[in-house]
Order: sequence, then C-alpha cells, then structure tokens
Amino acid sequence: MKRSLILTVALIFLLQFNSRAQTTASGAIFPKGTKVQANFTGAVWVQTLVPNDSTFHCVVGTVTFEPGARSYWHIHNAGQILLVTDGKGYTQEKGKPIRVVYKGDTIICPPNVEHWHGAAPGSSMTHISIIPNADKGVVTWLRPVTDQEYNAAKE
Ligand code: MN
Repeated sequence: MKRSLILTVALIFLLQFNSRAQTTASGAIFPKGTKVQANFTGAVWVQTLVPNDSTFHCVVGTVTFEPGARSYWHIHNAGQILLVTDGKGYTQEKGKPIRVVYKGDTIICPPNVEHWHGAAPGSSMTHISIIPNADKGVVTWLRPVTDQEYNAAKE
C-alpha cells in the first residue's frame, strides 16, 4: 500500500515535470501556446500573455515561428514593439531591405507602417509582441510575403 502510494506520487510528479518541459522546450521562457493558421505562412504558435483591457490598452503575447515561417504583410494602427527572445529571424518594412534579427534584438514597428516578421530559413525565432494603445486597433492583415520577397534577404 505504502509502496503504491509512493509510486503514484512519483508518477504524478514525473507527468507534471514532463508537461512543463513540453510547454517550455529548449529553455523557452514562456509557453509556446497554440498553433495558428490564418495570416501566417508556415507553422506559427501564439501565446497571449496579457489580454487587452480598459486600464492598459496593451496586448502582450509571445510568437514562435518554425524555420521559414513568417507573418503576412500587415499594419498596426498604434505600432508594435517586438523583443526577440530566441533564435534568428527576419523583419522588413515596406520599401526597405530585410533586417536580420537575433535573440536579444528589439524591433520597433511604427504606427501604420506596412511590415512583416518571421523566422530565418535555417532557424526558428521567438519574439514577444507588445501592442500599445490597442483600443486604436491591434492589427490589419494584408497579403502573404511571397517566396521571392522572403528570399531577397542579403546576409
Ligand atoms: Mn507586426
């Protein structure tokens, strides 16, 4: 009886440890979240960390892109701040060259400037997304980033 209780407690501990390890694989800081389909090319996961509310009007989330995955072209009415927490990625504002970004980089997306962000071809990329003044609108999705646009990166 005592032995089976110890085994049960050990099993519960192992299951919890394993579940935690899956949501924060490879030393990730925040849970990977849910896989999303619309408005992205390739596999992308999103986890909301702070939902919009009437006090802060600020949406915070973490987004993970598999290698080669990227957002569609889009606009944030009030802008966006991105903090790269893992990997290597690309970001581009309309009419400008692609910028290569790495873990630890900050990306400022000014209000109403068309842009996209995603992973580099050989690396996943995770960033925190901060959207201030969310009552002005969070995001307007436009069209996919073509392979030709994505492959125009000069490294
Ligand atoms: Mn954006």
